[in-house]
Amino acid sequence: MKKVLITGGAGFLGSHLCDRFIKEGYHVIAMDNLITGRLENIEHLFKLENFEFYHHDVSKFIHVPGDLDYILHFASPASPIDYLKIPIQTLKVGSLGIHNCLGLAKAKKARVLIASTSEVYGDPMVHPQTEDYWGNVNPIGPRGVYDEAKRFQEAMTMAYHRFHGVETRIVRIFNTYGPRMRLNDGRVLPAFIGQALRGEDLTVFGDGSQTRSFCFIDDLVEGIYRLLLSDYVEPVNIGNPDEISIGDFAEEIVKLTGTDQKVIYKDLPKDDPKQRQPEISKAKEILGWEPKVSRQEGLKVTYEYFKSLSEEELYDKDHYNFDKYIIR
Ligand code: UDP
Repeated sequence: MKKVLITGGAGFLGSHLCDRFIKEGYHVIAMDNLITGRLENIEHLFKLENFEFYHHDVSKFIHVPGDLDYILHFASPASPIDYLKIPIQTLKVGSLGIHNCLGLAKAKKARVLIASTSEVYGDPMVHPQTEDYWGNVNPIGPRGVYDEAKRFQEAMTMAYHRFHGVETRIVRIFNTYGPRMRLNDGRVLPAFIGQALRGEDLTVFGDGSQTRSFCFIDDLVEGIYRLLLSDYVEPVNIGNPDEISIGDFAEEIVKLTGTDQKVIYKDLPKDDPKQRQPEISKAKEILGWEPKVSRQEGLKVTYEYFKSLSEEELYDKDHYNFDKYIIR
């Protein structure tokens, strides 16, 4: 039985990856320090013999006994609010964390796949973003802690590949959504749905003309699974190119939830990218992958998930009062 270590295994993406590898018949070790991950996301796996959970911070030395075939490094805070609340951990997991994962991979002769991000392109001057674009990132801005950690992570990964011959894969993940996203992580989709469920106005930042392209979790997981098993070493964008302005997205959420609240406008956060759309010809060619789930279908499933959460989570004021964190 092949063995895979998934760091950030209790997080939104990590937990869905755990499910997928279990389904494919792997032995799965999920590792998480639970700063942003949630045990609820993987509770259903604890009864399985081929599933283990290590409560551990990957920024510290990682010990895994026995053989290991694959390591997926998905531990990291991943929302602009999280970068502002926990900036040092964000930097550490992308730098010390990847160093530990790569060292472990070298020792175990395991293949590593790292979760990189469209944030490596910063506020992009090339549209849609191709993998050969080097990006436009402000290293000292509020997003710098995430963007630069992820850029460093890519550099470190390529160095271990070139210098030590470690087998590596790099996925650049664009905005992804679906069940198990944290309701209060500040990202636009849970923010809008949370506001609709609490009967609050929907807060669009800026004039709403900035764009994003949202990929449903199942599509992302399929792309990552294919990339891991491919022999392609350079970064591959995985995302859904269906681009929409945040203003139009707010209207879609109003329709989806049937809320009678208004859309209101607040200042744009500093360094908020104006446009984002993945160019995915590489993924199509190399992995035979493209997204299959429309936003309409994906949003329906995601809305059902958010509706099933407790009142306590929905009204966790300390967590959804984002204004005190955002730098504009
Ligand atoms: N946004 C918004 N209202 C909110 C939260 C976010 O208008 O309550 C905007 C944000 O300014 C950005 C877009 O939605 O332009 C996506 O933000 P998110 O935090 O989801 O992630 P990003 O793609 O910026 O990393």
